[in-house]
Amino acid sequence: MHIHEFQEMMKQLYFHRDSKRGVKGTYEWLGDEFGELGKALKVSDKEATEKEFADVIAWLASLANITGIDLERAAIRKYNGKCPKCKQSPCQCTF
Ligand SMILES: [Zn+2]
Repeated sequence: MHIHEFQEMMKQLYFHRDSKRGVKGTYEWLGDEFGELGKALKVSDKEATEKEFADVIAWLASLANITGIDLERAAIRKYNGKCPKCKQSPCQCTF
């Protein structure tokens, strides 16, 4: 399954609810899910971490759906096989 297909599946499942909740509410849910991912990472619970990653990408896809953004297109346009800053692969940027 490609990112685009996952996003379409999320649209089928949740767009009717996501569109009513709106951008602000959906963004806040995404933030909550990031917080839960952080907690799972902190306690090194692999199963919980996996579930939280799923929630984060699901809410990210929901937010993309209600803002009319194609996640796969956006990701590939910016990260198309090389770092968008230094244009290298692997990235050669200094930190
Ligand atoms: Zn770089």
